[in-house]
Amino acid sequence: MIGYLNSADKSVLESFPICIIGAGAAGISLAISLSRQGKRVLIIEGGDWDETPESLDAYIGKSSTPHPQTTEFRYQRFGGTTHLWGGRCVPLDPHDFENRPHVPDSGWPAGATDILNYYSEALDYCDAGENDFRISAFGANAKPIFSEVSKLAPELNEYIERYSLPTDFGKKYRDELTNSSNVFVLLRTRCISLNCIPENPGSVSSITLHDGLRKLEISVNRLILAGGGIETTRLMLVSRKNNPGWNHLDTSLGKYYACHYDLIFGALRFHSEKPVFDFQKTLEGIYARRKLQFSAEFQAQHGLLNSAFRLHFPAYADPSHGSGVMSTIYLAKSILKPEYQAILNHGVNQSAQEGQSIKHLINIIMDMRSVIKFAFDWLFKIKLAKRKIPYTLVANRNGTFPIEFNSEQVPDVSNRIELLEELDRFGMQRVAVYWKLTDLDIASGVKSFNLLKAQLEKTNACQLEFDQKELERSVRNALPVGGHHMGTTRMGTNPSSSVVDLNCKVHGVNNLFIASASVFTTNSHANLTLTIVALALRLAKHLSSHD
Ligand SMILES: Cc1cc2nc3c(=O)[nH]c(=O)nc-3n(C[C@H](O)[C@H](O)[C@H](O)COP(=O)(O)OP(=O)(O)OC[C@H]3O[C@@H](n4cnc5c(N)ncnc54)[C@H](O)[C@@H]3O)c2cc1C
Repeated sequence: MIGYLNSADKSVLESFPICIIGAGAAGISLAISLSRQGKRVLIIEGGDWDETPESLDAYIGKSSTPHPQTTEFRYQRFGGTTHLWGGRCVPLDPHDFENRPHVPDSGWPAGATDILNYYSEALDYCDAGENDFRISAFGANAKPIFSEVSKLAPELNEYIERYSLPTDFGKKYRDELTNSSNVFVLLRTRCISLNCIPENPGSVSSITLHDGLRKLEISVNRLILAGGGIETTRLMLVSRKNNPGWNHLDTSLGKYYACHYDLIFGALRFHSEKPVFDFQKTLEGIYARRKLQFSAEFQAQHGLLNSAFRLHFPAYADPSHGSGVMSTIYLAKSILKPEYQAILNHGVNQSAQEGQSIKHLINIIMDMRSVIKFAFDWLFKIKLAKRKIPYTLVANRNGTFPIEFNSEQVPDVSNRIELLEELDRFGMQRVAVYWKLTDLDIASGVKSFNLLKAQLEKTNACQLEFDQKELERSVRNALPVGGHHMGTTRMGTNPSSSVVDLNCKVHGVNNLFIASASVFTTNSHANLTLTIVALALRLAKHLSSHD
């Protein structure tokens, strides 16, 4: 069933025992799982099936440089940001859940590792194949990334990263949800406040809904916030102001915001062999790529944050790569979504790019055969294909590979989401996002590159070249990965240092749960969506077994 607020019947909306705010990866996975278990669910989604002209307004806010604008990297529509995601699926590692002495404020509550048990089902929801991240997923005789890599184990190991179709959750699950008699989808309706009666702050009695014209308060039974890593926290912060009985949440709510940080640096030079660089398909036909990662023991020994290294392609904007394909993509970048334009400009000095168009055109003319092949691949492997090749990989003409580094960020109380005085058109306070790298983040990044270089020197296959003087400056200028909003309603046992408990229930509020990366206690280096889905499926199980 589908409805809009102007025609919705209050008593029908109130008849659902479970109400989910937000229909992105989290909200949809939760609703699908619950409805398949026969539970009746109301989903309240601020967007419509597609973007509407006014949908951006609610996301306008402020952010500190270099964090992306709050209107970027998140979408308000049925399916949420999976409308645009890249589809990379990576699980957290078992040691991510541990209390690691070298990572302040680390340690998920005991029992949280059971999230690992939900990855198989989560991968299924994301269309990303089996729960196997070893290179044997390509087949028993799969070639390693380079011949001598196994010599570096157990300190440095090779794994794979799987890719979703990428699945737009809105498109994939729309029919199942709207045809289900268990589910009511209320579109174009924002939840702007969670209300408790003053005598009972331990239970949300009602929520206030707004579609821009009509405001309606409905009573709720069990409520799950699944509005994404920033909006969920915003709704909690606004509601906290109205509920004095929630003051126990103040030490953590909105704090410990984290993004992964990303750096492309150095040049990995192979002496004779060609490493495995391209996407390959696993035995079940899933696109996947290789990554290198230090073991948990090695990270602990050297005080490192969890991180991953990948072979990268040269900067699109720099025509010295000599690739007609990269030059074509670079010159056509204005037709891409702003989030992907940002990727093409990554690490590039804009003023140095002026006047380079001629060189890009020369690349295109000189490399026309590759450009034509790329045009066919783009049409058949991206545009028309159901399972799309995730992105274009072109190796550098000089045979070197920049290293792409993705790292965990230390949970830091000064990285935060706060309310601004300014209101959106629903009368809800806008948000400001404060993000920076800490000294520990920078030290870990610098050490990780130096240790990678030392490890690779143990082989005769390759060497990592970089300017030692540039390393710290480059790590310091690393960018937050867009769309990775984590940590501001973190999970823990102690209400003075966390917002939700092991079951994602808000401390001290018996009917309020959160399904979002905002509950991540620490953030690994792994892209977040697979874990968001795993957490949602785990929450579905908890809700249905505690009816
Ligand atoms: C360009 C790009 C590439 C990405 N690539 C990857 C990748 O490769 N791998 C990966 O793991 N992740 C990736 N991500 C991130 C991924 O898209 C998000 O992690 C994921 O979509 C978050 O899911 P969610 O359900 O928590 O939030 P969202 O998908 O943002 O959904 C939240 C929904 O809740 C609704 N909502 C919010 N507040 C309210 C309210 N108050 N009332 C009613 N409705 C509300 C919103 O309208 C929205 O539809 C990428 C993101 C971008 C932008």
